[in-house]
Amino acid sequence: MTSEKELDPVATIVDGQPAHGGADHRIAVLNPSTGARIAELTESSAEQVDAAVAAAKRAAKDWARSSPRARAEALFAVADLMTANLAEFARLECLDAGKPYTTALEVEVPAILDGLRYFAGAARSTSAPAAGEYVAGNTTMVRREPVGVVAAITPWNFPLLQAVWKIAPALVTGNTVVVKPAENAPLSTTRFVELANQVLPHGVLNIVQGRGPTVGERLVLHPDVSLVSFTGSTRAGKRIAELAASGPKRLVLELGGNAPAIVFDDADLDKAIPILATAVLFNAGQECMSGNRVLVAESLYSTVAERLSAAMASWKLGDAAAADTRLGPLISAAQRDRVAEIVANRSQRTELIIGGAQTDSEGFFYEPTLIGRVAQSDQLVQEEVFGPVGTIQTFATEEEALRLANDTPYGLAASVWTRDVGRALRFVRDLEFANVWVNNHMALGPEVPQGGFGASGYGKEGGQDGLAEFTQLKQVVVSLG
Ligand code: NDP
Repeated sequence: MTSEKELDPVATIVDGQPAHGGADHRIAVLNPSTGARIAELTESSAEQVDAAVAAAKRAAKDWARSSPRARAEALFAVADLMTANLAEFARLECLDAGKPYTTALEVEVPAILDGLRYFAGAARSTSAPAAGEYVAGNTTMVRREPVGVVAAITPWNFPLLQAVWKIAPALVTGNTVVVKPAENAPLSTTRFVELANQVLPHGVLNIVQGRGPTVGERLVLHPDVSLVSFTGSTRAGKRIAELAASGPKRLVLELGGNAPAIVFDDADLDKAIPILATAVLFNAGQECMSGNRVLVAESLYSTVAERLSAAMASWKLGDAAAADTRLGPLISAAQRDRVAEIVANRSQRTELIIGGAQTDSEGFFYEPTLIGRVAQSDQLVQEEVFGPVGTIQTFATEEEALRLANDTPYGLAASVWTRDVGRALRFVRDLEFANVWVNNHMALGPEVPQGGFGASGYGKEGGQDGLAEFTQLKQVVVSLG
């Protein structure tokens, strides 16, 4: 389909200069709401990837020697440019990632800006052991230094948010960056890099375009890349870890999740139900912290099934550009088909409470879906679904609830819903997840580190721990004699 006016081709930007040529491979960028082609990108060639890393390496020395204040001011200036173009960023996120425009404008892009401003200032107050005479006759001090060139490889579910959460902390700590966005949602990150290059010294922030196994892998393997920060599937994360081992080079891996939300019979359901509906449906469920595994006390099954399905059904499904849409499309036909296949493969004993079908449209829509009585071994429970699909399981005891919650390969996020403080704290202690909420789900700020356990990856993003990932410590010992 070509019914919409096409945007300019998506650029590779190296050393501040946009380029449109590259490898032979061309990729059509689609609007997931309509299936229409909205732009084209030419994959960056191997020479362009190498040139991007070379530009970042050339820029690294001066950038690392600039003061944290100067780097913070540069990023605040980028944030001001973003603010002046807020509606454009919301539109771009809507166009290729299928984000409901109103949510992008009112929630997501402002949150990205807030993160950018937080990271900009955060590198002005870092910590390390105090200098002192730890070895008699010597003063020892610790320097926190940048690692050099960072490769940021980002997914399509939160294209700009993921890019900014990697680029901003890497830059403020004195590194330079080459970013590779997902091939199907490159628009907002490319515009961000274009705007940032109006402020930043050229070479400090570069962008290459194309597929993971070609452009992404060349970046990961490049000897002048010191650290790879990746968000995406556990499958791609494992492949990147294998490749990075040959360096060896440092890695931050933010991988999948399949979060449980454990609802006890004393929970405040008036509060829980709308939050759980959001936990299942926000970003059409394409969110690694989605609370799609709802575990309920047996006595609550019918009530939660009825109330949660009603709350989910009230989400207006439709073209992401429409002002009243809350539930947009999935990113691609392939992603929709994957979700449909997992739902179709559910076992006979499950109960389809609502949904379970794609809509009759050119866009990549899937109905809000709630499936009850799933078993722990079901694919719906064990794998990240990444669609607007929730499941309900029941438990009889606290021990069983904990066992079911912990029993998947993932360890990213979980929530527990109860008025019993002791029980809440027992779950905080015993849940094997990096983010645990009590009577809430998906409430997050950039000040606090996040990043999964187990198959959800390793390393942190956010807070001072997230900044520290982009630094290395140097011990300096000076003899007093
Ligand atoms: P991927 O993990 O393949 O893609 C994420 C990013 O990694 C993209 O930029 C991709 O490039 C890149 N990439 C992929 N393979 C490599 C590689 N070998 N070397 C370097 N970079 C690579 O996710 P998919 O698009 O395949 O989505 C499949 C599933 O992954 C989803 O259904 C979901 O379950 C999960 N997922 C989880 C995310 C999360 O936030 N936890 C985010 C995205 C997906 P490109 O796509 O351009 O080829």
